[in-house]
Amino acid sequence: MRSRLAPTPSGLLHIGNAFSFIVTWALTRRLGGSLLLRIDDLDTDRKRPDFVADIFDNLDWLGLDWDEGPRNPADLDALWSQHRRLPLYRAALEQLTATPGALYACECSRGRLAHNGATARYPGICRDKGLPQGLPGTKLRYRAPLDAAAGDFIVWKKDGFPAYQLASVVDDEHFAVTHIVRGADLLPSTAMQKLLAAALGYAHFPRVRFLHHPLLIDTGGRKFSKSDGALSLTALRREGMRPSAIYRFVAGTIGVSGAVETAGQLLDAVDERCFDALDIARRGELPLPVNF
Ligand SMILES: [Zn+2]
Repeated sequence: MRSRLAPTPSGLLHIGNAFSFIVTWALTRRLGGSLLLRIDDLDTDRKRPDFVADIFDNLDWLGLDWDEGPRNPADLDALWSQHRRLPLYRAALEQLTATPGALYACECSRGRLAHNGATARYPGICRDKGLPQGLPGTKLRYRAPLDAAAGDFIVWKKDGFPAYQLASVVDDEHFAVTHIVRGADLLPSTAMQKLLAAALGYAHFPRVRFLHHPLLIDTGGRKFSKSDGALSLTALRREGMRPSAIYRFVAGTIGVSGAVETAGQLLDAVDERCFDALDIARRGELPLPVNF
């Protein structure tokens, strides 16, 4: 059994990240598995040293440990950055490119698609244009089955780097991840990554067990977001929040009774049914209100 924490250093960690990380950690430790810290740092425009430091600071503050992956920012750059795995992503791209019809070039700008809404299914504008692949300013999309809710999604960006869907599935296969805990907002990503794994003939990824948990919302009913710095863990810490408040919340949410104020106490109290009950496949997609 192996799982991973996969933060992105493009913003400050928020309470939703903490929830996901704690559940992942507890599930991995309960099942006697190995936990990987994978920092998704491909987006160099948005990666900032303070955001990288924020990840390590907050994992430490929460008392979570991991078995593989970087121990500090220098370790990330030297050994674990996704940029070190670019050959793997490029090999996957070549494999997809060699598959007739799997990918197509797309010249649509973000602005052109914006009127459909950021989360809308791509309307397939470039699907049958037959644009040559590799032209500057174009990206590559995976030609998804027409009945796939995800629509045709980007696998390679116009900046020359893999898109999240491709990098994530390549990494999960590479590290032989067996369990993935993620928020319900990533259900479409799961569908896209399963399509890619099938297209790439992966052995491990099709057997991954997913736990999609409901999203956390604040008292105003809003989803927590990286763009909302006031709700970051670091801001909450400055206001005096203690990890014990977060552990009490997590324990209450996953149906653990008794006093739980630390990672160790949570681990002692959970069993596998707690995780099953959290999965939206069982409990529905009802959001989890945060109430400290
Ligand atoms: Zn297009």
